[in-house]
Amino acid sequence: MTLGQQPQSVVIIGGGLSGALVALQLLQERTRPLRLSLVERSHAIGRGVAYSSPLPCHLLNVPVNGVSLRRSEPHHFLHWLHQQGHDQFTAQSFVPRYLFGSYVEATLQAAQQADSLPLDSYEDEAVELVPGSPGVGVRLARGQVLMADRVVLALGNPAPGSVAIANRDFYRSHRYIDSGWSGQLEAVMGQGRLLLLGMGLTAIDWIVALHSRGYGGEIHLLSRHGLLPQPHTAPQDYDPAWWTEPPPHTTLGLLRWVRRQVVWAAQQGYGWRAVLDSLRYRGQALWVRLPLAEKQRFVRHLRPYWDSHRHRIAPEIGEMVTALRRSQQLQLHTGHLINLEERGQGVVVTVCPRGQTTNQEFTVEAVINCTGPQFNYAKLADPLVRSLLSQGLMTPDPLGLGLRASPTGAVYSAEGLVSPWLYTLGPTRRGELWETTAVAEIRDQAEALAQEILGVGVAVAGGAG
Ligand SMILES: Cc1cc2nc3c(=O)[nH]c(=O)nc-3n(C[C@H](O)[C@H](O)[C@H](O)COP(=O)(O)OP(=O)(O)OC[C@H]3O[C@@H](n4cnc5c(N)ncnc54)[C@H](O)[C@@H]3O)c2cc1C
Repeated sequence: MTLGQQPQSVVIIGGGLSGALVALQLLQERTRPLRLSLVERSHAIGRGVAYSSPLPCHLLNVPVNGVSLRRSEPHHFLHWLHQQGHDQFTAQSFVPRYLFGSYVEATLQAAQQADSLPLDSYEDEAVELVPGSPGVGVRLARGQVLMADRVVLALGNPAPGSVAIANRDFYRSHRYIDSGWSGQLEAVMGQGRLLLLGMGLTAIDWIVALHSRGYGGEIHLLSRHGLLPQPHTAPQDYDPAWWTEPPPHTTLGLLRWVRRQVVWAAQQGYGWRAVLDSLRYRGQALWVRLPLAEKQRFVRHLRPYWDSHRHRIAPEIGEMVTALRRSQQLQLHTGHLINLEERGQGVVVTVCPRGQTTNQEFTVEAVINCTGPQFNYAKLADPLVRSLLSQGLMTPDPLGLGLRASPTGAVYSAEGLVSPWLYTLGPTRRGELWETTAVAEIRDQAEALAQEILGVGVAVAGGAG
């Protein structure tokens, strides 16, 4: 790889939040000549899956002061909002996600102007990496090849995989929407009964969007555990220093440890949310020290409970969901999906309810897959992912939740070697770090990664398991 006084050439693949933040950090921190390129298959930079929705009803699930792009300036986003005339918002507001996307875009643009360094953006898809000497070629779908010294995989959230059912032909039906993010709201507005597969944040996005458009039909939700995201309440500052007991190394031990802390905190007047929020800052360190078998146990048994309590929703959305449940417009089913079959004007849904052995059936008019990203890279059909895996340039983590990477995000090859030129960050690191998808974590990873690329040492949390 060519370094020294030659401009260092960095290609970032993926222009969602993670890619935009690495670019931002590289621009701000660079101490040497740099050539920076960003490849994003959609037209928008800084938005990705989460911040592309134009709907004002799609709110951030953390308040304004939790998503500043500057760690040292918690009110940076709030100040930006006020500069844009959104004076109604406070540090505790839950604002529309598109506003956060605009903030990311504007902050990146401002950094480019301040640095007078152009960021070469390519609206294209990266399909292959061709390692050479010197440098590596990044081949784009339209045929162009970008040469790089370093490549960052900011690939983000892959589309959901389909749930295993007896009749897989159903997935070709026009009554099935295969990705909860494709936003095909119009297509289902006329339907009387819908089924959303999954009860996480994507399902909540659909419910909110349908409600805001005046949808009056029934919305059925199905998941194995039947857990909806919990709503936020007024924040409480619970001091992490109060965690005096050393954390155990088993999943069951950790569960009991947290429960004891919740009981103790309640006696001091703090709710469980404050306890979980304080735990967040230790989350990566706790995860990294768990043995693999314990991580597998956590994913198998505790993940739905963790997701529901940790990835919460804005209070106003929580109230809306409660009202819809009360009116029976929203109906929850807990169980295992057995089959989906188009019959007449509808879809017959066969479910084995949790804890029972007899299947139940009900009919809906359309089914939307809201099961969340398919993080098992071995199962993805994406051409770049397939090519990187087949060349042995990267390797899935043993939990099937992302990619193996070093503490600074350097990717492991199939032979178990840390790559000197290929990096990743954000949701791809879920298996390694667990807590890696929220804005604050991605911001900190982008900072560490930029310093690694620029050759400035920095201590980071987490590491390869
Ligand atoms: C619906 C939703 C809501 C969320 N809300 C919040 C929230 O309120 N608060 C919070 O803290 N976190 C939230 N998150 C977490 C979220 O994952 C992160 O904040 C962030 O969006 C992850 O950014 P990313 O760039 O890694 O991934 P993505 O947003 O998935 O972006 C990846 C980008 O890479 C591009 N790409 C991938 N492969 C290629 C290729 N080969 N060539 C070219 N381009 C490619 C894709 O087109 C995409 O634009 C939310 C997530 C989702 C899905």
